[in-house]
Amino acid sequence: MHLYVHIPFCHHICPYCGFYKHKPGALANADFVRAILAEAERRTTAEKTPFQTVYFGGGTPSLLSKAHLRTLCEGLAERFDLSSVREWTLEANPATFDIEKAALMRDFGVTRISLGVQSFHSETLATLGRDHSPAEAIGAFETLRAAGFENISVDLMFSIPGQAAKTWSSDLEQAIALQPNHISAYNLTYEEDTEFLTRHQSGELDGNEDRDADLFYHAIDLLESHGFHHYEISNYALPGFESQHNRAYWAGADYLGLGPGAVSTLHGERSKTLADTAAYVRAALSGLDTRTDIEALSPEDLRIERIALQLRTREGIATGLLPSRNPVESLIQQGLITESDGQIRLTREGKALADPIAAALV
Ligand code: SF4
Repeated sequence: MHLYVHIPFCHHICPYCGFYKHKPGALANADFVRAILAEAERRTTAEKTPFQTVYFGGGTPSLLSKAHLRTLCEGLAERFDLSSVREWTLEANPATFDIEKAALMRDFGVTRISLGVQSFHSETLATLGRDHSPAEAIGAFETLRAAGFENISVDLMFSIPGQAAKTWSSDLEQAIALQPNHISAYNLTYEEDTEFLTRHQSGELDGNEDRDADLFYHAIDLLESHGFHHYEISNYALPGFESQHNRAYWAGADYLGLGPGAVSTLHGERSKTLADTAAYVRAALSGLDTRTDIEALSPEDLRIERIALQLRTREGIATGLLPSRNPVESLIQQGLITESDGQIRLTREGKALADPIAAALV
């Protein structure tokens, strides 16, 4: 069992971001934290299983004040069995914490930080609408190390309009120079209801699939040559530093999601909480069910989802998940997948086409 907590606050809204997030506004963060704990309290009766991983995502969890982080972490530990937690990740953005807050996060039980850097170039950060500088990103990483974090992941982004190959290469090299334990390298996608999608549809922001593939393969080659294992399409880790929370999610494990807009998958049921923070806080503090969109997942739903997620991983998918009539042979002949030990895995060529290959296999 795994726990996800969604903290939707961001000081600044990035124009490409498709997550549920907003500026803190007039809402009291103390009420927000009380609402999460009220929801935890209400759901704890059903969830006695010890959690193995915890993930605070957002939004910007590192925006919470030290006092609110303390209340939240201690409150969760009082309500759930966290004695078996082996990884506790918190997403952080540069310029949202100092060494004192970082040290407290460690004291509260956080073991891993996922630092949203995206780029070490001012022009690329400006294109992305990020509100931190390259120097702040480097300073934030050094602060985390000084606070004693031994497991830090750096998020980078490529396929950004105007991003030259040499800029991407130097982003990767700068990240490697910091010696993180894990690097996530995401391909920019144009998400629904974002400013970037509107600008993309109007032709202002271009896409270039050939260039994207070159940048993707350059990341694989450079990071693998520095000892990072490419264990999922967008994720690279030094041995032993793969994200255990994400691996569990890709493997189809049950997880409980708390906070506005958080998704849970429990006992064959998928639900999502109200993606409206004020409504979520009102409902949770009134003892009401915050979940919406509750749906039972059929074995066929789970099979399709598992193929889509697991195909992206180094382990690949078990052939037993595939329907009897499938295009495995044809995809092998095209050099896009391999089959061995009862597992289907993407080849180097196939990695750039993971989604269409998964669609063909289901
Ligand atoms: S990318 Fe991160 S910091 Fe930017 S708006 Fe989205 S959640 Fe907030």
